[in-house]
Amino acid sequence: MRFLTCLTEEHDLALVGLAAWFCLVGSMITIRLLDRIRHAGPGSRIAWVFLGGAATGATIWCTHFIAMIAYQPGVEVAYEPRLTGLSLLVAIFGSAAALHLATRRWRGSAALGGALFGLAVSAMHYLGMQAFVAHGMVRWSQGYVAASVLFAVALGALAFDRAQGRGRFAGQWWATGLMVASIVLLHFTGMAAMVVTPFAPGIGQVGSSTATIVMAIAVAGVGTLVVGTGLATYILDAQARSDTRRRLRELLESNVDGMAIVQGGAITATNAAFAALVGDGAPIVGQPLSRWIADIATAARPDRLTQLTLTALDGSEIPVEVTMRIDPRSSCPQTIYSIRDLRARIAQERRIAHLARNDSLTGLPNRTSFLEWLSRQTGPDSPHRAVALLSIDLDRFKEINDIHGHAAGDRVLTRIGERMKAALLPGEFIARLGGDEFVAVMPVAEPDDALQLIDRLRDAIGAPVTLDASGIEVACGMSVGVALWPRDATELSALINNADLAMYRAKASIAVDACFYEEEMDKTVRIRRQMVQELRTAIDRGELAVHWQVQEAVGTRAITGYEALLRWTRADGSSVSPAHFIPLAEQSGLILPIGEWVLRTACAAAASWAEPYRIAVNLSPVQLGHVDLPRLVQQVLLDTGLSPARLELEITETAMITDPVRTIHILRQLKAIGVSVAMDDFGTGYSSLSTLRSFPFDKIKLDRSFMAELNGAPQSAAIIRAVLTLGESLHIPVLAEGVETPEQLAFLREQGCDEAQGYLLGRPGPLPVRVEDAPERLAG
Ligand code: C2E
Ligand code: CA
Ligand code: CA
Repeated sequence: MRFLTCLTEEHDLALVGLAAWFCLVGSMITIRLLDRIRHAGPGSRIAWVFLGGAATGATIWCTHFIAMIAYQPGVEVAYEPRLTGLSLLVAIFGSAAALHLATRRWRGSAALGGALFGLAVSAMHYLGMQAFVAHGMVRWSQGYVAASVLFAVALGALAFDRAQGRGRFAGQWWATGLMVASIVLLHFTGMAAMVVTPFAPGIGQVGSSTATIVMAIAVAGVGTLVVGTGLATYILDAQARSDTRRRLRELLESNVDGMAIVQGGAITATNAAFAALVGDGAPIVGQPLSRWIADIATAARPDRLTQLTLTALDGSEIPVEVTMRIDPRSSCPQTIYSIRDLRARIAQERRIAHLARNDSLTGLPNRTSFLEWLSRQTGPDSPHRAVALLSIDLDRFKEINDIHGHAAGDRVLTRIGERMKAALLPGEFIARLGGDEFVAVMPVAEPDDALQLIDRLRDAIGAPVTLDASGIEVACGMSVGVALWPRDATELSALINNADLAMYRAKASIAVDACFYEEEMDKTVRIRRQMVQELRTAIDRGELAVHWQVQEAVGTRAITGYEALLRWTRADGSSVSPAHFIPLAEQSGLILPIGEWVLRTACAAAASWAEPYRIAVNLSPVQLGHVDLPRLVQQVLLDTGLSPARLELEITETAMITDPVRTIHILRQLKAIGVSVAMDDFGTGYSSLSTLRSFPFDKIKLDRSFMAELNGAPQSAAIIRAVLTLGESLHIPVLAEGVETPEQLAFLREQGCDEAQGYLLGRPGPLPVRVEDAPERLAG
C-alpha cells in the first residue's frame, strides 16, 4: 500500500510516464547490446562493453532522475550535484562490469552479470538519494530498502539470464520486460522506503519547480543522446553485419563445392551444394559436421586437402576432399569447411585407367596389359613351369569389313571378343592388340594343353555373328600360332615373335588353323628379312637389270614385241627369281621405286632400239593402288622419248578384284595416254567374264600353265579353245605364254591363236633377240 500511495499521491504522473518510456527504450537497447557484446570479437569487445555500459548506465540513471523529479513529497527539494554525478558514474561503470560479466562464457555468468546489474542499479539509486536534499526530515524504512535491492538483484539476474536463454519464457522481449521491472520496482520500492516530514517553512532553501521541469527535460535529452548513440551504433553495426552475412551467403551459394560454417561445434550455415551432398531434406544447421563426416575433427587440417568419406542421409558413402579454414576474428572462432565431391573425378580417373589398360571396342585388356601380364607369367617369379602364348588372327575379317562396312566389323570384333572372354578358364588371359589381332596366355604342363584353349577359341570365333541392321550372318575363321615359354624363347619379344611366326604358318596353311612354333620358321623369316634388307639397296648398287623375252605372231612368226622381265643378281653373285622377290617387294612397299625403275629403264632401252618393237612392262597391283600411275607413265614416256603406242602394260586380275572401280578408272586414263593394256596370266585367278567385259583390254595373255598341261590334261586343249573363241568374240587378240615345243606352237596355229611367247621362241635375255636370230639382228 505504501508503495502505491507513494506512487500515486507523491508523484507527477506525466513525468513518471516519461521515466517509464525512457526505461523501456533504454532496456530494449541494453538487451540488444548484451547480445552484441556476446558475439563481439576480442578486438571490439571492450568498445562494445563501454558503449553498452554507457547506454545502460544512462538508462537507469535517467529513469531514476526523471522519476525523482516527478517526486513531489510536498516540500521543496534539491540535488547535491557531486553525489548526483557520482551516481551516474556508478550506473555506467556498474553496468559495464555487469555486461562484461554477463557475456562471459561460463555457466551462470549471465545470471551473475544480471545480479551485478541489479546491485549497480541499487547503488546508483541510493547514492542518488544521498544527493536528494528535501526541505524536511528524511526517514528510511529498512524493510523497504532491503526488499528493493532484492527485487533489483533477482529481476536483473533473471532478465540477463532470459536474454540468452532458450525456450518459452526467454528472448529479448522477456528480458526487456524483466529489466524494466527490475528498475521500476527498485525505484518505487526505494521511494516507498523513504518518508519525508516537512520542516516549518523558511527553514532551508530549495530550487523552484519550473527549474526542476527544465532539468528533467535536460536530463532526458542528454540521456536520449547517450542511449540514442548506443542505438545508432547498434543499428549501423547490425546493418554492416547483415551485409557481411549476405555477402557470405552469396559467396557460399556461388560455390559449387559443399560449404559448411561451424561455430562452437555446430553448423551455422551451409550452401545448396552441401545440402545436395548430404541429401536434401535433412536438418543441417545446429548439427555437428561429424554427423556426416565422421573423421572431420581428427583428420582435417587447416589449408590442406584431406580425403575423407561423407555418409549421406540415405547411407551412401561419398568420397570427398575437405579443406578447412579457421576464422579467428570472432570471440567464438568459426571454421569454414569446403567439401568437394570426388565421385566424378574418381570415376573419370578410373575410366582413364581402364582406357589405358583396355581396348575401347571390346573391353578386353590391351597391349599394355598383355605385356604386363606376360612378363609376370614368364618373369623370374613365375609360378608356372611353362606358359603358352597364342597369337590369334581372324580369317576373312578384312572381307567382312570391306563388304559390310566398319560398323559390321566392329560388331564382329565385339561379339567375338565377348565369346572368347566367356570361353576362358581361370588362369587364362586374352587381349586384343588391335585390328583383328588377339593374343592369349595360359600356363601349361604339356605343350598340347594349349589345344584345349584353341578348341574353345575356335568355337568362340567360328560361330556366326548376326549383323544388327541387316540380320545377315557372317563368320570368321582363325589362325593361331603357339609359342612356349621357356622352350621356344625365354625373352618376351622373342616369344611374341615366335608365336607370330607360327601364326603366319597357320594362316598360309589350308589344312590346319593352328601351328606350334618350330625353329625352322625362324630361319625362313630371317632369310626373307635379310632379302628385303638387300633389295632396299639393290637399285643403287646396280644389281637390277631388265631382260627381254620375244613375242611373235603365230601365223607369220614376225616379232610383235618384247616383254620386260626384271632380274636381280645379288652382291654374292646369286640370282633371285622375280617370282620370289616381287612378292617381298610388294609387302615391303619396295615395289614402288623398283616398278618405276623398271618402267624407266625399259622405255629408255626400247627408245634406243633400231627397230620400233613394242615392249610389255609388268605392273604390280600395288603400283596401281599407290602411285599416280598415269602421270608417272606419261612422265617416263616424255623423259625417254618412247612413243606411247610402243608401250603395253600387263596387269593381273588381282588388281581388278581389290578395287575394280578405281582400277578401271586408272586403266582408262592410261589408254587415253595412248598405251595399251594386256590382261596377264589369264585363266589362273578369278577369270570372270565380267573382268574382260568391264574394260577393253588390248590383249589376253593365256597363262603358261595351260601350255604345260596341254599334253597331259585333255581339258587344257578345251580351255585354250574356249579362251581363243572368247577373245575372238570380244575382238581381243590372245597371246599364249610358255610355248616350249613345236607341237604346242602347231596346236596354237591350228586353233588360230594370234601370238605366242616362250622358251621355244626365245628365252629372256639382256638383249632383245630371238633364238634363231643372227647377231646382225641385234638391236641398238
Ligand atoms: P609373267 O609376267 O607371267 O612372266 C613370264 C614368266 O614366265 C617369266 O618368269 C618368264 O621367264 C617365264 N617364261 C617365259 N617363257 C617360258 C616358258 O616357255 N616356259 C616356262 N616354264 N616359263 C617361261 P620370270 O621372269 O621368272 O618372272 C616371273 C614373274 O615375275 C612374272 O610372270 C611376273 O609376274 C613377275 N615379274 C617379272 N618382272 C616383273 C616386273 O618388272 N614387274 C612386276 N611387277 N612383276 C614382274
Ligand atoms: Ca607378264
Ligand atoms: Ca604371265
